[in-house]
Amino acid sequence: MATCKVCGDECEALMSVKQDGKTKKMCEDCADRAREANEIAEASESVVQGMMGFKGRR
Ligand SMILES: [Zn+2]
Repeated sequence: MATCKVCGDECEALMSVKQDGKTKKMCEDCADRAREANEIAEASESVVQGMMGFKGRR
């Protein structure tokens, strides 16, 4: 048994998920959530970059 450091629940196996360039160990539930958050972060990042590119005309 291992304890997930993200939600504090005990789980059978921890998964390694890369977040903010660091590998974090968490349970499957948290790994799913982290992956979703990563996708959202990436999506909003590209939106911000697109906006900056649009506003930052030279
Ligand atoms: Zn967890």
